[in-house]
Amino acid sequence: MALSEEVRQPAPFVGRSRWDAIVVGCGIMGASVSYNLAKRGLKVLDIERFGVNNENGSSHGKTRIIRLAYYEDPRYVPLLRKAYDIWREVELKTMKKLLLMTGGLMVGPQDGPLVKGVLRSAGTHGLSCELLSAKEAEGRFEAFSLPEEFHAVYEKNAGVLFAEDCVRAYVGLGSEAGCEFRFSEEVRSWRRGAESIEVETPLGRHLTSRLILCAGAWNRDLLGGSIPLNCERQVPLWFPSGGMERFTASRMPIFIMEDAPGSYYYGVPEVGHGVKVARTHGGEISDPDRIRREVTEEDVAPVSDFVSRRLRGLSSQPMASTTCLYTNTPDFNFVIGEHPDDSRVTILSACSGHGFKFASVLGEIAARTVTGDKQDCDISFLSPRRFGSKSA
Ligand SMILES: Cc1cc2nc3c(=O)[nH]c(=O)nc-3n(C[C@H](O)[C@H](O)[C@H](O)COP(=O)(O)OP(=O)(O)OC[C@H]3O[C@@H](n4cnc5c(N)ncnc54)[C@H](O)[C@@H]3O)c2cc1C
Repeated sequence: MALSEEVRQPAPFVGRSRWDAIVVGCGIMGASVSYNLAKRGLKVLDIERFGVNNENGSSHGKTRIIRLAYYEDPRYVPLLRKAYDIWREVELKTMKKLLLMTGGLMVGPQDGPLVKGVLRSAGTHGLSCELLSAKEAEGRFEAFSLPEEFHAVYEKNAGVLFAEDCVRAYVGLGSEAGCEFRFSEEVRSWRRGAESIEVETPLGRHLTSRLILCAGAWNRDLLGGSIPLNCERQVPLWFPSGGMERFTASRMPIFIMEDAPGSYYYGVPEVGHGVKVARTHGGEISDPDRIRREVTEEDVAPVSDFVSRRLRGLSSQPMASTTCLYTNTPDFNFVIGEHPDDSRVTILSACSGHGFKFASVLGEIAARTVTGDKQDCDISFLSPRRFGSKSA
């Protein structure tokens, strides 16, 4: 079929000026890096396909867990120390409560990956954690009902980030620093030229010196499949606490539980929306634009069953739910750094279902990557180059 004249015509340039940096996406990563670039004096445009805190990506859903004794890999701990500091700075700058310390309980078999991993990180970095028997954990935290053979590691330095307020805080700081945010505009493609990078949207073409890809699950398409990312459907649920003290943030820590080998659940105490409980991973792998958005009995049943077995007296009928996307890499580590084929393009995909808590420090790190400033954290294990170089 011949293309119409209209389609063949290149889109017009939008505005006359060229941007120092264009950021694609305004989830937590895009919002954070946009602010960090604008505060360094760069002329920044952040283009977002939907709105702030839209429910299509990965940054919505009220709360996120933050914890320091990282069972996944001790190499994340230095990043986390900085992440906590920067979240507190952002709270001071915006006068908003973003972080609530509740403590954290990591529960499972003593020789399972979760309990062993937390103790490994704590040992490597000298973090203070307590190993408790199931009975001791239940005695201290009335919310839980645990199998006798389980163990729990309690960490004081864990808590909750108010996710949607965090995104709004960064958009506010970014706007104050001079960043322009454009919502309801979709980046359709980008092209590398000798002098600049051209970014095409339905409104026209934008020119920029640097491009930062923070499109969450859509990064895969924007990278032409050159980085192996898959998109996994997740369904967090909220259960009514019925006014029971044991589920409030002063009495119940955030938790992750290895309920059976390979089957993990997590939860957040009542902070105004009910007790959040979800199964992590095990969701359908799909295209982010075709993900099943309706929540069915099949999604709810295993979580309700977990609630009735492990959370003492909590109603197993959820009061709210949403769908959310994990963007997974094969090793479940993030992808941060220069595009393997062009140093003007930075990839920021803090993904695999555990990135939110790092957004404060990763926005800073990605901004340093863009401006060529020295990094003060080791991020070599997160490099896009570990997947080899295929042209995007
Ligand atoms: C259910 C769930 C629970 C989680 N729990 C935790 C937790 O407890 N702790 C933790 O640390 N992490 C957690 N995470 C992970 C964390 O939330 C994500 O790593 C983080 O939100 C990813 O942010 P992002 O900005 O990369 O992606 P997103 O939030 O998806 O933002 C990407 C944005 O890009 C936009 N976009 C896409 N394509 C285009 C385009 N072509 N043009 C313009 N805009 C575009 C999208 O509309 C979207 O708004 C969880 C994730 C989920 C789904």
